[in-house]
Amino acid sequence: MASGEGRRGHQNLVPLAALISREMRSEKMEKPTVRFGHAAQSKKGEDYFLIKTDCQRIPGNSSSAFSVYAIFDGHNGNAAAIFSRENLLNHILGALPRGLGRDEWLQALPRALVAGFVKTDKEFQRRGETSGTTATVVIVDRWTVTVASVGDSRCILDTQGGPITNLTVDHRLEENIEERERVTASGGEVGRLSIYGGAEIGPLRCWPGGLCLSRSIGDVDVGEFIVPIPYVKQVKLSNAGGRLIIASDGIWDALSSESAAKSCRGLPAELAARQVVKEALRTRGLRDDTTCIVVDIIPPDNALPPPPPPKKKNKLRALLFRKKSSDSTSKLSKRLSAVNIVEELFEEGSAMLAERLGNEGNSVESSSTSGIFVCAVCQIDLASHEGISVHAGSIFSTTSKPWQGPFLCADCRNKKDAMEGKRPSGIRVS
Ligand SMILES: [Zn+2]
Repeated sequence: MASGEGRRGHQNLVPLAALISREMRSEKMEKPTVRFGHAAQSKKGEDYFLIKTDCQRIPGNSSSAFSVYAIFDGHNGNAAAIFSRENLLNHILGALPRGLGRDEWLQALPRALVAGFVKTDKEFQRRGETSGTTATVVIVDRWTVTVASVGDSRCILDTQGGPITNLTVDHRLEENIEERERVTASGGEVGRLSIYGGAEIGPLRCWPGGLCLSRSIGDVDVGEFIVPIPYVKQVKLSNAGGRLIIASDGIWDALSSESAAKSCRGLPAELAARQVVKEALRTRGLRDDTTCIVVDIIPPDNALPPPPPPKKKNKLRALLFRKKSSDSTSKLSKRLSAVNIVEELFEEGSAMLAERLGNEGNSVESSSTSGIFVCAVCQIDLASHEGISVHAGSIFSTTSKPWQGPFLCADCRNKKDAMEGKRPSGIRVS
């Protein structure tokens, strides 16, 4: 008895949120309806966006559908933003192994996002054009939302009755101390613009280059410590659904995440996007390009069951499912907001490529079964003697094996070293 009691006691320590998510998984969750809206006001013509609602994991199979929403806020010109809009998604999808089921595919996404961002940055830099861009990419697959971002185009999540959370971090030197330290450690200098007389003005920037952001795509004329490695977060919504607001800093310089979310509650997505832009302009005027995409992930009509009978087992269900018509001030929704019903599946923001690409799995990687090595970033085929392990020579090589994948081509290996400050920008090592 005693041991049984102990075990049961231990189980009681499982946080409510984990219990709930376990419960959610066992529920057969129906497919949500996804609706979106977009609005923008242009000042410099450097904001670009992408909305693609007809993507399919398995071509021709409509039940494998997912949608993609992205914002690219360019600086020093619009070339990097346009290039990223045209190429980034293809590079991300190209880095995903073929023939994966939904769960495996979602699990493989974070790595593919990193590879796609780095490949896009490399390709754009090779063109020798100046300009850079933020990139915030949101992939919605049923209830699972995966966000990858460099720069400061934020994506927030407003769950019904729950808290408003940021699904991105701002890669801004002024506010992000961790990034400031990373840039300094990789050989960049962080400081404000000095004007005549020595007075310092404006936000913190890194030098050379004078960029306020610590991560971006492009920016060939800036130090390579400005990396294109995205912060990635993946969450699974409860079947109450939620609203995503993706916007460039023209919105966020004027509105907090809270006020943006609250300004458009109750409006359908199209009107909501317009309302957020309007609210930002009212607060601050049109000082910058201002772009906003609103994505609503809406439960199917019959997904919400009637109020459960007072059975013990259904107490949890009562917590989980909001009555469809319940007003936002009801006790139920207050209790709901106290429980984080959004399940966090993945979060990683490290700027180290070796950490982000990780150890090669032995189940789904085509390279390990076919005997063909592929660069984990740019996906080019490698002869067996060409591949350099992402771990080789890194501080991680003590714990991982340098002959283990994933592998990089020589070019991507150079890029990796440069991003980590091991090779000063523009200096060739041979
Ligand atoms: Zn490569």
